[in-house]
Amino acid sequence: MNVGAQTRLFGVVGHPLGHTLSPALHNAAFGATGYDGVYLALPVEPERLPDAIAGVRAWKVWGLSVTVPHKVAITALLDELTPEAAAAGAVNTVYWEADRLLGHNTDIAGYEAMLATAGRDAARALVLGAGGAARAVCLALRRAGIATTVAAREVSRAEALASAIEAGTVTGPTHAVAWSALEAWLPRVDLLVNTTPIGMYPAGDASPVPDLGRLPQGAVVHDLVYRPLETRLLHAARVRGLRTVDGGIMLVTQAAEAFSRWTGLPPPRAVMRDAFDQAT
Ligand code: NAP
Repeated sequence: MNVGAQTRLFGVVGHPLGHTLSPALHNAAFGATGYDGVYLALPVEPERLPDAIAGVRAWKVWGLSVTVPHKVAITALLDELTPEAAAAGAVNTVYWEADRLLGHNTDIAGYEAMLATAGRDAARALVLGAGGAARAVCLALRRAGIATTVAAREVSRAEALASAIEAGTVTGPTHAVAWSALEAWLPRVDLLVNTTPIGMYPAGDASPVPDLGRLPQGAVVHDLVYRPLETRLLHAARVRGLRTVDGGIMLVTQAAEAFSRWTGLPPPRAVMRDAFDQAT
C-alpha cells in the first residue's frame, strides 16, 4: 500500500471497534483494484458523533462505514438519506455526492444475501433485537413477504421499529413482543434471526436463546454476529439439526456494496471474502 498526498481516507465509526473486520476487507479491496485509498478503524463515543461528522466534512473523509451504536443516530447528521436508508431509518454507509454527505444502507442487501442462502421460504420470523441492524433485517423480511415478530428487552423499542416498518407495509405484518415472551414464540416461527451482539467476541459463551428446543424441526437460524463465525446460538441450532447461516455472507455483501458506492468500481468480492476468512 502506497499512501501519498492524493490517497483518499475511509473508515468505520462505532464504539467499541475491537471486533471490526472492515479494515481488512476494504484495504484488501483497495489493494486488489489499485484504488488509492486507505481504510481505518475510527472509534467514536456516542456523545462525540456530531464532532466526528464535522471532522468528516472538514477533512472530506471519502467514505464511512457505520456500526454499533451509531446507525440510527447518524441519520440526523447527514444532508440526505437514500431511499434504502430512509426506509430502514438506519445508515451503515456514508458517501459524498458532489458536496452533499449522503447516508445509505447496504445491510439490507447484506441480509438479503443471508436470506437467499436459507430461510427465503419461511412464513414467520422472530427477530431478536431492535437496533440499527434489526431495521435492515425487518425491511428485507417485509419485502420477502415474511411475517415478522420483533423481540427486544425494551419492548417500546421493538414497538417503534415494528410501526416504522409497518408504515410502509406492502406485505407484512411486523409486530413486537417483550423479550420475556420470546420462548413462547419459538414454536410459532420457522426463522429465528439474532440481531443483538449477544455471543459476539469476546463474550462468545453467551446465547440470546439458551434453549432452542421449542423451535420447530425444519426451522432456519440466522446470526448476524460474525465473530466467532459459529456462535453459541448457531452451534446449538446445528446440533439440533436445524439449518444455519452465519454473519459472514452479510458482512462481505454489505462491504462489497459500500465499496462500489464509494469508488464506482465493481467490488472484488472473492478478495474481500478471502480477507474475511483470513481474519476470522
Ligand atoms: P445496535 O444498534 O446497538 O442494536 C443492538 C440491539 O441488541 C439493541 O436492540 C439492543 O437492545 C440489543 N441488545 C444488546 N444487548 C442485549 C442483551 N444482552 N439482551 C437483549 N438485547 C440486547 O447494534 P446493531 O448495529 O444493530 O448491531 C447488532 C449486532 O449485529 C452486532 O453484533 C453487529 O456486529 C452485528 N451486525 C452484523 C452485520 C453483518 O454484516 N454480519 C451487520 C450489522 C450488524 P437495547 O436497545 O435495549 O440496548
